[in-house]
Amino acid sequence: MSYPSNSNIHLFRNEILNLCKQDVAKCIQCGKCSAGCPISPEMDIQPNQIIRLIQLNDREGVLRSNTIWLCASCETCSVRCPEKIEIATIMDILRKLSLEANIQAGEKNIVKFDQIFLDSIKKRGRVHELGLVIRYNLTTGQPWKDVHLGPIMFMKGKFSLLGHRIKELERVKEIFRLSRRIKSQE
Ligand code: SF4
Ligand code: SF4
Repeated sequence: MSYPSNSNIHLFRNEILNLCKQDVAKCIQCGKCSAGCPISPEMDIQPNQIIRLIQLNDREGVLRSNTIWLCASCETCSVRCPEKIEIATIMDILRKLSLEANIQAGEKNIVKFDQIFLDSIKKRGRVHELGLVIRYNLTTGQPWKDVHLGPIMFMKGKFSLLGHRIKELERVKEIFRLSRRIKSQE
């Protein structure tokens, strides 16, 4: 990481502040966000470290991390933060900035997985696991990846062949429509 000069050391912090009204300067590095995060074992950079890197103006390091794409937006971190920093909201903004800057995440295909996951939600209101795995494997050119797990999961009732649609699918679709509208106004 290269250290910025004093004049622009707060650039990234200010960018986040402007975009979502969250001030990472308030972070005291207590680590409560990371300790409660259910996905933290899979992340390459822990949520509290993401906040620290924003303070240190390491824009590229943050936007390249797998963490921002693995975050499930469960809000546990936001609820636990003693400084009331909405970390989940920051993660959302970081994903947006990463896409805008066309930055490749450390883990190849992680952005593709995120898009296929959202497509599945848009169609059914909930994810269809089997469809998601098949589409992901085909799109990423690895059709047989984890195929041995399919029968085991099916036997345990974790997979449904056809998937389910939620009753109020129209409301989910409306959320997607609204977010598209908001994006086009930005
Ligand atoms: S919102 Fe994201 S970072 Fe925060 S606890 Fe949930 S998965 Fe972890
Ligand atoms: S919980 Fe809040 S104050 Fe503590 S490390 Fe995380 S962001 Fe910082």
